[in-house]
Amino acid sequence: MDHIWHPYTRFSSLAVAPLPSINRGEGIYLFDENGKKYIDAISSWWSNTLGHGNTRLVEAIRDQAGRLQHSILGNLSNPWAEELARAICDRMPDARRHAMFASDGSCAVDAALKMAIQYHHNRGLKGKTRFLTLEEDYHGDTIGAVSVGYVDGFHRPFEFLKNSSFTVPLPDYETGDGVEPTRRMLKEHAHEIAAVIVEPLCQGAAGMRMYEPRYLRDLEGLCREHDVLLIIDEIAMGFGRTGRYWAFEHAEVDPDIVCIGKGITGGYLPLSAAVCKDYIYETFSDEAGDDRTFYHGHTFGGNPIAAACALEALKIYDEMDIAGRAERLGKLMETELRMIEGESGVRDVRTLGLIGVIELEPVPDTASRAAVIRDGLRENGVLLRPLGNVFYLMPPLIISGQELAELCGMLVGMIRKYL
Ligand code: PMP
Repeated sequence: MDHIWHPYTRFSSLAVAPLPSINRGEGIYLFDENGKKYIDAISSWWSNTLGHGNTRLVEAIRDQAGRLQHSILGNLSNPWAEELARAICDRMPDARRHAMFASDGSCAVDAALKMAIQYHHNRGLKGKTRFLTLEEDYHGDTIGAVSVGYVDGFHRPFEFLKNSSFTVPLPDYETGDGVEPTRRMLKEHAHEIAAVIVEPLCQGAAGMRMYEPRYLRDLEGLCREHDVLLIIDEIAMGFGRTGRYWAFEHAEVDPDIVCIGKGITGGYLPLSAAVCKDYIYETFSDEAGDDRTFYHGHTFGGNPIAAACALEALKIYDEMDIAGRAERLGKLMETELRMIEGESGVRDVRTLGLIGVIELEPVPDTASRAAVIRDGLRENGVLLRPLGNVFYLMPPLIISGQELAELCGMLVGMIRKYL
C-alpha cells in the first residue's frame, strides 16, 4: 500500500507502473533507486535553478544547521532573515520595501492578498475586499490562492471560490483586446477591488500562455488611477528564468507587492515572501492608538537555514549573471525548438528566457497522448510533465548549451513520433 498521497497524480497512472523513486541528484540530473539517470527538465516544479548537489548551497545549509536551526520572527529577529530581506529589497526597482516571509509560494500569495485588503481597511476603505486577475492565472492551491487563480482543469470542485475575484481574458493587443477589458472592469468595480494580481508575462500552470510586457505597463497605470494595488506573482518567473532578474522588468513596472518563492533558495528549501512597498507597510502602524498590526505569520517563515541557503543562492545568481545566462541559453533553445515549427499537428512554438514550449493541436484523447510522450521521454532519461497539449522545458539555469541542445532534440524527436 502506498501511504503517500501523490500531488497532481492521477490514480490511473499509479496503476500502470511504479513511480520512479529518486534518491540522488547531481547538476541537471536526478537518479532513481536503480541508478537510472534523468534530466530534470522542469527543474523540480520550476524551483531548481542551480542544479542538484550544488556544493555552495549544501555547505551554507550545513553550516547554518550547526548554528541556529529555527527561531521565530514574531517579536524576535535573526541576522540571516534580516540580511535576506535587505538583499531581496535591494534587488527590486526601489529598495524601500519590507518582506513578510512564509514557506510555500501559496502562503506568500495569501499574505499578499490579506496585506492588500488590510491596507485599504487601515486607510478606512472597508469595501475593497475583492481582486482582479487574468483568466487561468495560477497562484497556488490554498483556498486563498485558488480564489484568485482558478484553473478549470485543476480546481472544479472549488469553483465557488471564484466569487472572490473578477477576471479578464489574457490580453491580446493584436485583436484590439489589450488592456481595454481590464480598463472597463476597473472602472466599474474598483471601489470593491483591493488589488490586481497577475503572473508576469507567462501563465505557467495554464500551459505557459504568454502575453506582451506592455500589458503590465498599462495595468500599472490603471491601478494607480483607481487606487488598486498591483501584486505581481514572481514565484515561478523570478530569479532570472525569463531573461531578466524579475519578469516584471521586461515591462519596467514597479509593483506594490511582489510574491517570490521557489528559486529563492535555488529550490533547496521551502521559503517564500510577500514583499511590499513602504507606504503599504506604514499603514499597519499602531502608534496612533489604533491597533492595525498584521496578525499574520507562519511558524517557519524566514527559517534561518532556508534564509542562509537563499543568501548563498542570491550571491551565486549575481556572480553568474543568472538572467543574462537564461537569456543567452533561451536563444539557443528557441533555435532548437523552432525546428518543429510549422509541421502538421504543431500549433505553436514559443519561448521566454529559459522556458521553451511546443504546443500541439488538440486530438480526441489529449491526456493519453501526453502520457505516452511523457513516458517515452522518461524511458529515454528525461523527466517532464506536459500540460494538456503543451510540452515545455524549464531546465535548471546551469544547464550547458550542449545539454540543452540534446534535451531539445529529444523532445522534438519524441513529439514527432506522435504527430
Ligand atoms: N504562484 C505561481 C505563479 C506558481 O507557479 C506557483 C507554483 N507552481 C505558486 C504560486 C504556488 O507555489 P507553491 O507550490 O510553493 O505553494
